[in-house]
Order: sequence, then structure tokens, then C-alpha cells
Amino acid sequence: MFSDWIIGLSGQPTPHKTKWLIGPNSKDTSDHLQQKGKGMTKITKREFYGTLRNRVNDYFNSKGISQKGNVGLFVKAVIIISIYITPFVIFLTIPVNLWQAILLVILMGIGEAGIGMAVMHDAAHDVFSGKRWVKRLFASTMYLFASNTLNWKIQHNLLHHTYTNIYGFDQDIETKAVIRLCNHAPLKRFHRLQHGYAFFLYGLMTLSKLVTDFGQLIEFNRSGNTKKQQSSPRKELAKLILAKALFFSIIVGLPIWLTSFLWWQVLLGFALMHIVAGMIMSTIFQMAHVVEGTYQPIPDKDGVVHFEWAVHQLRTTSDFARNNFLLNWYVGGLNFQIKHYLFPNISHIHYKRIAPIVEKTAHEFGIMYNLKPTFVAALASHQRRLKELGRPASEIYWLL
Ligand SMILES: [Zn+2]
Repeated sequence: MFSDWIIGLSGQPTPHKTKWLIGPNSKDTSDHLQQKGKGMTKITKREFYGTLRNRVNDYFNSKGISQKGNVGLFVKAVIIISIYITPFVIFLTIPVNLWQAILLVILMGIGEAGIGMAVMHDAAHDVFSGKRWVKRLFASTMYLFASNTLNWKIQHNLLHHTYTNIYGFDQDIETKAVIRLCNHAPLKRFHRLQHGYAFFLYGLMTLSKLVTDFGQLIEFNRSGNTKKQQSSPRKELAKLILAKALFFSIIVGLPIWLTSFLWWQVLLGFALMHIVAGMIMSTIFQMAHVVEGTYQPIPDKDGVVHFEWAVHQLRTTSDFARNNFLLNWYVGGLNFQIKHYLFPNISHIHYKRIAPIVEKTAHEFGIMYNLKPTFVAALASHQRRLKELGRPASEIYWLL
């Protein structure tokens, strides 16, 4: 166990009143650390992130390359967006039978998930390109599946990245319907079965977002998060309503109008596309944070998390299947999540190259590095973790 005492949350541990006292972009306030840590523990790892950042910067400087996306990322974006749009155009313009239609819909689901993971994600983090209009254009791919970039930026960039795996702060590990994703959440009897049914429910993720986006935006508007992002709550709500209306008109309305398929067949196809996309994205997301070896801390009564920010990211996140070329390409570096959480300002296109630097530095500082060697190993670990989360924490051996 590490004894670092570095990250603090000020005020009561509620999502909208707290802030990191020390984070990746703040100055190293050693006085504060020593004062807060006095008599409790000692600081040993605070040099870690500085050392790591210097080494990663040296890598980019020595190669003379930008930390943003490159031509390879642009080509990937075009291919993945085509996987989503081309089947739809074929469906509208060429008569197809039922089985061909199902195949096209599945391809669209694969494309939709790919856009979310490998295109929109980088763009919403402002790392797709050095050019502002290019970043904004590709971040707007969010509208291709009727969501809005502001919701994503607050939920993901702000809350999830800052409070990774911290119960009560990170919405990603909140209980989703009947799936318990955190050992601090209330436990119900039916959770004992969740490792069996969770994967089916993952398929509902993007479908449910079509509705829950509204509640989420209203909450962000009310809490002042929308204004903090320098946007207007009314404007964002209007944009969201317009995006949904356009999306349904195009993706459901056009096939009903232009093809021989009946309205309920089109709706079933629409649902299937989302089930494919939701299942892929949810599973990939969960394999980074809800697997064996990743911790889910809660702040103490003073709202303090007892680990340096960078060490916290390593404790709460896992890499997987780093040598799987197809996976690396398709999931947009979400299998190199440790790099992403330490360096969200670097495009995923570079993660494979900087992975050895991060791993070596972590080992030098004696910090654990979660890695599942293959996709199957990570999937199995996630399923075992779901099984653990369906039981009392006292039964989970590695948390004791
Ligand atoms: Zn991210």
C-alpha cells in the first residue's frame, strides 16, 4: 500500500462544491501537503508525475512531433464515420432483403461505437488536431447520434476525468438501473445475478441516453456547470431538442418514407443499431475501470482522497490488450486508459509509443500498474468484478 497524502478535495464531498486542491495543472503546494499530511503520513510519490511528464515531453521533442492527432487519425476518422453513414445510404438507395438490412444495421452500430470511442472522444478532449475548427467539426460527430458535446464534456472531461472511480462524484460508476458498479453503492439481492445479465443491459446504454440526455442537461444547467463551460443553458437545451428532432427525422423518418420496410421494422432496426453500439462502448468503458485491481475510493470525512492525483489514476484504471492491433485502432486508445487519464491532452494515436515510458516510470516509483494482457482476460476480469460487486465487500479478497 502507498502512503501518499497528496490530493485533497475542499469543502463537503458533493460534486458541485468540491475541487481538487492539487491536480495535474496546479502548482505543487508542498506547504499545504506537509500541513495536511502532518502527523498522518509522509509524501513519497509527488515527484512521480513531474518526472513522467518530463520524460513524455522529451519523447515528443526528440521526435519533433505534435502531441495532437495526425494524418493517421484523420484517415481513421473518415473510415469510421463511413462505416456508420455508408450502410445507411445503401439502405435508403438500394433495395435490400431483411438479412442484408440487419447486416447494414449492425455495421452502423459498429460505426456509431467507433465514432464515439476513436473520433469524438479525442475531439472533445481538444486533441484531435491543432486546428480549432477541425477539433470542433469532429467533436460535432456527437450530433450524429443525437447527443450534445456539452453534456459529454461536463460528464466525461470534467467529472469522470477529475474524480475517476470516486463514488458520489464519477457518474460512470453510479448504479445503472439494476447494475451495481461500485462497492460503495447500496447492495440488493438481485445484484448476485448481475454478472449474468449486465452485458445484455449494456446494449441499452445509447438508447437510454436518447432520453436521459435531457435530465442530465437540466441538472448541469441547474448546477451552474453549463455556465462554467461558457455556454447558455437555454441555448444548449434548444440545441439538444433540435439534434434529437433532426436525428429521428433522418434515421427513422427517411427509411419509413423511402424504403419498403414497415415502420415497426425500421424501429426494430434502429434499436438493434443502438444495442450493438451500446454493448460495444459500455463493455470497453467498463474494462478500464471496473476490473480486478482497480480501486474505487471515497473521500474521507474532510473530503480528502489520500493519494496523489497521478497515483490515483494508476490505482483506478487498467490497460488491456495493448498488442491487439485491430482493437488499438478501433477503440481509440481506450485500451490504453492509463495513458489517457494521465495525459488527456495527448491524442490516443500516440499512446502505444508512450506506454513503455509510463510503465517504466511507474515501476521505478514502486507504483502498481494494472494491465490485462488480452481482450478476453480483461472481459473475464470485468465479469468476475461484476460478480464480486453483487456480494458484500467483505467477500472481496483483494480489497481487504
Ligand atoms: Zn477521456
